[in-house]
Amino acid sequence: MIRDDLIFNEPDSLLRMTISGMQARVLMCRTTRLTQQAADIHQASDVATTAMGRLLSASAMLFSSIEDEGKSITATVSGDGVGGSMTVVGHSDGKLKIAVENPQAELPLRSDGKQDVGGFVGRHGKLTIIRDRPDAEPYIGISNLVSGELGLDFAEYFTMSEQTPSLVALGCLNQKGTVLSAGGILIQALPGCEISVIEELEKREPFFAGISRELYDKSMRELAEFWFQGMDLELLSAENLVLQCDCSREKMRRALLSLGREELLEMGSADDDTEMACHFCRSNHKFSARELNDMAKHAAVRGE
Ligand SMILES: [Zn+2]
Repeated sequence: MIRDDLIFNEPDSLLRMTISGMQARVLMCRTTRLTQQAADIHQASDVATTAMGRLLSASAMLFSSIEDEGKSITATVSGDGVGGSMTVVGHSDGKLKIAVENPQAELPLRSDGKQDVGGFVGRHGKLTIIRDRPDAEPYIGISNLVSGELGLDFAEYFTMSEQTPSLVALGCLNQKGTVLSAGGILIQALPGCEISVIEELEKREPFFAGISRELYDKSMRELAEFWFQGMDLELLSAENLVLQCDCSREKMRRALLSLGREELLEMGSADDDTEMACHFCRSNHKFSARELNDMAKHAAVRGE
């Protein structure tokens, strides 16, 4: 449940900024409410919630590069941790949805008192980004996980797969089912960025590591102004972020049809209705035996 009395009163949103006369791009986001909603939907353990908060934040910043309306980006983390794979889909209008294979998996805290996100996600595996493009095949970028903590994994993805030197910090502060703050920052050097700017950013890097604690009682604007003092910070835009699934009974019907005739007939032979749960919002879509048998008439026979 979202605890408005406990969280900082700034809506979940994404800020786009530049520093040093457009030599670098800075994105910052707050995803506190999104993360709480996702944790509630998936009845997530605390470690799963932390992982979701970080992944939602990284994805929101990644998705800010969607230029075409109606297009989407899918980020999938498939590691060898107890949580299994996690997927976030985002659209150009700031809508995100998240699915996690084992959201209830739990892990003890690490020796430093932090949630063991690396253990939940896994330290080996892949981060896959699929970008929907207008009038072209989707662009697929893949990089190897480096730590499973997600911040470094996304930095690796941007640097290796998209050839943009990037600094990423992600954070989620939550306890016993309550999310207090979640968010992230992404800084990218743009072409022609002077080495002095990069050195200055490296000096300030330790600030960013505590982003979830900082976001707990400060606005993003306040933080950015403090962190980039003397670096000619310019705010370009702010955009709201929401957790919203776009599933529907009709989409589920199409997915069922694609299973083929045999499978549909088998499902239709059961006495009870068949319930199909959406992996993202967990809502159930019911199909009666009659409906399934009817669909089977229109479905292709597998292997034909
Ligand atoms: Zn859904």
